[in-house]
Amino acid sequence: MTRLILVGPPGSGKGTQGARLAGEASVPHLATGDLLREIVTSGSSEGERYKAIMKSGNLIADEDIVKLVDDRLKKADAKKGYLLDGFPRSLKQAELFSNTDAGALLDRALVLNVDEDALIERLSGRLTCLSCGASFHIKNFPPKAAGKCDNCGADLIQRADDNPESIKQRLKVYRDTTEPVIEYYKHKGLVVEIDASGSPDDVYSALRAYI
Ligand code: ADP
Repeated sequence: MTRLILVGPPGSGKGTQGARLAGEASVPHLATGDLLREIVTSGSSEGERYKAIMKSGNLIADEDIVKLVDDRLKKADAKKGYLLDGFPRSLKQAELFSNTDAGALLDRALVLNVDEDALIERLSGRLTCLSCGASFHIKNFPPKAAGKCDNCGADLIQRADDNPESIKQRLKVYRDTTEPVIEYYKHKGLVVEIDASGSPDDVYSALRAYI
């Protein structure tokens, strides 16, 4: 049984590594950012509200996000484990999550470390597939056909929050609000820190031991 969370700043590779790890462990990969972008795309009034918050680089309310995750983890496929990417992102979320059935059973918090200059470089050139969530980089990891996802062929976009203003704010939110989550899990003895500055394959080799 694999029950993991991936913690790391924006651009640290949570999405790329999370998809691969969850695939190999045969557990659902739940990325709160992806769940929220689906709600935004649905065009509901809630989606409109989330859209503005995400674009600014700030966080969705803790109670809303914990409910979203808890509801999703009650589905049958999550009974055999889960890999959460981008959640919990605040101390409050971590505390509320530990009171849920699935959260109480968490095995490990894998923390991806990358220095800030590299994150800015990765995020400012990032191209994202809205359909399958895969990430590319305009210079360092270009898609085979310009503007099209290598995996599923859908259009690639630059995310609305991958602009210099939003990137700066997201990194600040990570330092101020998400880093305390790492301390919280350290006290519980659940943290493993990984150097995530290398290639996707190198980072994956380091993470694989924990599934
Ligand atoms: P990144 O890690 O690159 O910033 P994500 O796709 O994980 O990208 O998140 C994008 C945005 O979605 C965040 O900036 C935030 O507005 C919102 N979001 C995602 N996860 C959470 C969460 N656990 N709590 C609150 N807001 C969240």
